[in-house]
Amino acid sequence: MKIFRTPAELQAYALANKRSGKTTALVPTMGYLHAGHLSLIDIARQKADIVIVSIFVNPIQFGPTEDLDKYPRDFERDSKLCEEHGADAVFAPEPGVMYAPDASTFVEETRLSRPLCGARRPGHFRGVTTVVAKLFNLALPDYAVFGMKDAQQLLVIKRMVRDLNFPVEIIAAPLIREHSGLALSSRNAYLSEDEKERAVVLSRVLDAARPALIEGGIEAIPAVLEAMRHEIEKAGGRIDYVEALDASTLEPPTEKSADLLVALAVYFGKTRLIDNTLVWVKR
Ligand code: AMP
Repeated sequence: MKIFRTPAELQAYALANKRSGKTTALVPTMGYLHAGHLSLIDIARQKADIVIVSIFVNPIQFGPTEDLDKYPRDFERDSKLCEEHGADAVFAPEPGVMYAPDASTFVEETRLSRPLCGARRPGHFRGVTTVVAKLFNLALPDYAVFGMKDAQQLLVIKRMVRDLNFPVEIIAAPLIREHSGLALSSRNAYLSEDEKERAVVLSRVLDAARPALIEGGIEAIPAVLEAMRHEIEKAGGRIDYVEALDASTLEPPTEKSADLLVALAVYFGKTRLIDNTLVWVKR
């Protein structure tokens, strides 16, 4: 397995693969890999001749008060896992080689990135779309795999690809959970045992919301969200948001909405966790 540290090395590799007619699947990550990430690599492995995993804690998607410096990192372990899962190359650049000190070009999606995490983390999705656009230009993938753990991110990336005509097919990978129901996340490493047990409430309230919304339709949304908030607070979570939006527009649901995205961001201690579920209210 190859390890590339600079954009130029990765792009040369990608161009050579493209010229020899090989297809490529890219899996963008911030590292500290867990079974959720590995499931994305497995999907990529089935899709394309060449699998490239990027491991990059992208500074421009973190706000000034967020956890950029303490974000967990373990490159040795990550690269071993990538190799075990059949990756052909890992791209792990230092921030200095990804962004020129006077970089002044950014990619911004302006609708789907407004609510939910976009409203609470100003500039976050602009950082994500910019780095993903750069990764697409470097890895030249035919496919890129993103997890439904970050449902809003997935929608924003799909919109960017459509609007800017990137020749990349976006593949959505299912959200992977622990046995307890807790969504796997690199940030779970910050949780104490007690917080981890309490955080199980998130998947529990999302599970309970589904049948209630299927039964009650969009009229039931206020009561369902209220019940979710109550349970989360009872378990000691501090709510950033708990919302139900139209899953294709991320606008408030209407009678026409076929699917709802029920999404939440909740702090346990200092750790901000996100989780979501999709609910088909109309068949
Ligand atoms: P991250 O390293 O957190 O930026 O995540 C990299 C990719 O892995 C993103 O596409 C995430 O949606 C995906 N991912 C993270 N956690 C999970 C999970 N529990 N299940 C599925 N995909 C995930």
